[in-house]
Amino acid sequence: MKSRNGICERCGEPARIVHHKVWINASNINDPSITLGWDNLEALCQTCHNEEHHGSADRIKNDLEFDEDGNVIKKKMAGDGQPYPPSSKHFSKL
Ligand SMILES: [Zn+2]
Ligand SMILES: [Zn+2]
Repeated sequence: MKSRNGICERCGEPARIVHHKVWINASNINDPSITLGWDNLEALCQTCHNEEHHGSADRIKNDLEFDEDGNVIKKKMAGDGQPYPPSSKHFSKL
């Protein structure tokens, strides 16, 4: 990723998420070039990350997603439109 100083690469807000441009799934979770490669990482704030995952296309068409370990889990869709729990403690590797 271009920025490593904790700034969202899209809007300049403080970044909270290390987003994987190629999304992690069960078939690539063990590929270090996907999970750890700088070329595949992007620092995003929560807002931009939510948009990336939920704002546009239905790249995930159902209500399932993968957790940090690549396990399929049900999305935590709270009524307030925040699909992720607050992640202030650490960068979520999604
Ligand atoms: Zn942002
Ligand atoms: Zn992501």
